[in-house]
Amino acid sequence: MENIFSKEIKVNIGINEDCPCNSGKNYGDCCKNKNHEYMTLGKNHKGVNIVFNNSMNMETYDKISNFALENIFSLKEYEYITISKGEELIHNIYSMVDEGISQFETYAPCTKGCSRCCSLYLECTAIEAEAIRRHIKSTKTEEEIKEIEVYITTMKEKMETTKSPHDLEHTTLHDMYYNYLKEDTPCMFLKEDKSCGIYTTRPLRCRGFIVFTSSDKCSLTKEIVTPKLPPIYIGNLAIEHLSMKVGRYKSLTYVNENNEAKPIKRCLLQWFNKGLDSIDRTIE
Ligand code: SF4
Ligand code: SF4
Ligand SMILES: [Zn+2]
Repeated sequence: MENIFSKEIKVNIGINEDCPCNSGKNYGDCCKNKNHEYMTLGKNHKGVNIVFNNSMNMETYDKISNFALENIFSLKEYEYITISKGEELIHNIYSMVDEGISQFETYAPCTKGCSRCCSLYLECTAIEAEAIRRHIKSTKTEEEIKEIEVYITTMKEKMETTKSPHDLEHTTLHDMYYNYLKEDTPCMFLKEDKSCGIYTTRPLRCRGFIVFTSSDKCSLTKEIVTPKLPPIYIGNLAIEHLSMKVGRYKSLTYVNENNEAKPIKRCLLQWFNKGLDSIDRTIE
């Protein structure tokens, strides 16, 4: 497994320095006695040291791992779960991931309204797409649903040459991501004010979208590279297995180059290309 912590360096906080918990107090008068371990990922776009509480980070990592072991990995080979159960579990994982990455957010330039990343090819699993579909059906008006469906139809043509990532070699995959971005296909849930129309149910890929470089850089580069934060890494692993354990999606898998079974991931436009009555399970 790739070492996801390789770029992190341990730091010592002086007792007179600001406490990293953002309380506004000195470290010596605040969290010092908790004996937490702090680390840095280097400097962000403003030259500020990205210091984070690694004890908290590891706690989240363990919490998500244990949750996945108990509810997903412990299922026997022949045992599958319902969509509703999958939906419930996915929201549990989302909230643990959100909590885990919140300490990094203060270092990122990402703000509401900054949305170039919402035009990228953002893939998600079938259960995530289904959770979104159900959320839309139960919270949006008929008119809003119609609007989304019209948008899907408009974008369909653009999507026709776009393949699912599991179908492509690494080198072609890179081109596909870039071509998709060039086509300028903003997410169907991106609202006029550039906020997310399904914020509470947005897929993990969107939750993990955080950068420490300046937001200008996001509009200049071909691809936005996001740091591999442990809560996102383990959250992704849990969700991948969860999707494969939902009975309805058990056939939506493939074997990757490391001989591991993986769930097929596609962007939302591909999952919803037949409208919002069901997700498209007819993978060629
Ligand atoms: S990742 Fe880049 S484009 Fe997306 S919100 Fe953050 S700064 Fe903006
Ligand atoms: S689901 Fe929301 S956050 Fe994700 S790409 Fe769409 S608008 Fe952006
Ligand atoms: Zn503190």
